Amino acid sequence: MKEKVIKTDEEWRRELTPEQYAVARQKATERPFTGKYHDAKERGTYRCAACGNELFNSDAKFDSGSGWPSFTAPAAEDSVRTEADTSHGMLRTEVLCASCDAHLGHVFADGPRPTGLRYCINSAVLDLDKEK
Ligand code: FE
Repeated sequence: MKEKVIKTDEEWRRELTPEQYAVARQKATERPFTGKYHDAKERGTYRCAACGNELFNSDAKFDSGSGWPSFTAPAAEDSVRTEADTSHGMLRTEVLCASCDAHLGHVFADGPRPTGLRYCINSAVLDLDKEK
């Protein structure tokens, strides 16, 4: 089990940028092609911008053409957790940081091999730890 990072709404509001807060705590979605990582090719580990939890490796990143950073799998099985999301009249699977419960994005079953999954993640809640 991941160690849980639990903070009050007030603490999150103070520590995160307004954009990070909107995505992580209010489940906002950044506009496509506007985030800093949708086109990133650098190698490294993408951490949760809210709590530092390792979320995705650059090895699993692919160009989905969607305008959001996309991954075939999380860094580890317990990096993220998922929940059914029925908002906006759609049935989607929400992806959250397993440690601090930040909203990250959604996962879809139209990804490439080997998993066939597409983790569609907001750049705002990612922090790339570049490989030295
Ligand atoms: Fe987190």
